[in-house]
Amino acid sequence: MKKIQAIRGMNDLLPSQSGRWQYLEGVVSDVLRRYHYQEIRFPILEQTELFKRSIGEVTDIVEKEMYTFLDRNDESVTLRPEGTACCVRACEENGLLYNQVQKLWYMGPMFRYEKPQKGRLRQFHQIGVEAFGMATPDVDAELLILSARLWRELGVADAVTLQLNSLGVPESRAKYREALVDYLSAHRENLDEDSQRRLETNPLRVLDSKDPATQALLVDAPRLGDFLDDESKDHFAQVCSLLDAAGVNYQVNERLVRGLDYYTKTVFEWVTDKLGAQGTVCAGGRYDGLVEQLGGRSTPAVGFAMGIERLVLLLEALECVPEAATQRPDVYIVAVGDVAAAGLALAESLRDALPYLAVQTHCGGGSFKSQMKKADKSEAAIALILGEDEVKAGQVTVKFLREQADQQMLQHGALIELLKTL
Ligand code: ATP
Ligand code: MG
Repeated sequence: MKKIQAIRGMNDLLPSQSGRWQYLEGVVSDVLRRYHYQEIRFPILEQTELFKRSIGEVTDIVEKEMYTFLDRNDESVTLRPEGTACCVRACEENGLLYNQVQKLWYMGPMFRYEKPQKGRLRQFHQIGVEAFGMATPDVDAELLILSARLWRELGVADAVTLQLNSLGVPESRAKYREALVDYLSAHRENLDEDSQRRLETNPLRVLDSKDPATQALLVDAPRLGDFLDDESKDHFAQVCSLLDAAGVNYQVNERLVRGLDYYTKTVFEWVTDKLGAQGTVCAGGRYDGLVEQLGGRSTPAVGFAMGIERLVLLLEALECVPEAATQRPDVYIVAVGDVAAAGLALAESLRDALPYLAVQTHCGGGSFKSQMKKADKSEAAIALILGEDEVKAGQVTVKFLREQADQQMLQHGALIELLKTL
């Protein structure tokens, strides 16, 4: 029979990999706890309208990347392509925004119908952070300081750089858009195909183009910075000086525009040159208009999302996955003969005494030799051998699997002392 396979671009996370993910998720959630950001969870499926109204009808995501289908009741639903819109929906629906301040984070799968390649999947995973109810630049800066700490704690700080820009408020952006369209329309024939299309639908995205001819044209294009309103200019200057004071380095990148419509003022990306084309590991910005756009009361907000797959790739590329994130047991219990009860009891007593220890009990029977082979393959540091003789004597044989040392017969107390030194 033909075997059923996973959907293209949707990966399984195998046991050999999951330790890295748990490590990363653990470091991130702990950093977030230290800044007192709280976790929120919301569904994976939402009404399609939520994303159309927030991300923007003419963005890549809504135009061609969403997993949208009719449910059994003929309602159009979409697998979430990102978390910000869902987070706003959930907060608004549960009355978390009005007259309040929220500092939140979430983690989970997102879905986009993209061309699968390294660092680009159709089901990928993000950790997102959102702060609501604060219009001042201190919170923009806090999010960037938080992410900078995260890179330090993960050991990747030297491999990422922060790119920063301001998109201004919708009015100033509209003026810039007009000027940019005027300029680019005059050179339309020199634009790449994608940019020609974007010129009509989403002209700011032309600034993103990687095409050399388009890039050359952009050198003399009107500059977004020249169109910024005073308030946005001032906000941006303050974010920059707060980052300077905190010692967070950044590059102002006037071409940074981001692919979603809802951003206002500050936008940023953390990028690395260690992953090839998919170098953005974390991206976000301020979106002061979104809550209102989705039917709530005007609420300032700022947030970012990082791609877990890309961060794991970066940890691997830099070889900064700690030993503890590789999943091997500390101890492997070999139980030969009619000693199953004693084997299980020994394992339980070790777990009681040393909660951090990973104790694997051999299950499934087999000869001493075959069990020892499995113990060795497990990469445990130590095999604890229980046979009928050991059980009678109330002892355990300790065999060191990774170092040259004589095996020993130990009683329970001495065994615990020894395992404490592991
Ligand atoms: P890109 O420019 O790489 O397409 P994006 O601007 O579409 O990214 P965002 O919507 O800002 O990405 O998502 C935030 C982060 O989520 C990205 O910086 C990236 O790390 C990750 N990400 C986005 N799309 C994917 C994907 N298809 N596969 C894996 N990770 C992704
Ligand atoms: Mg994208």
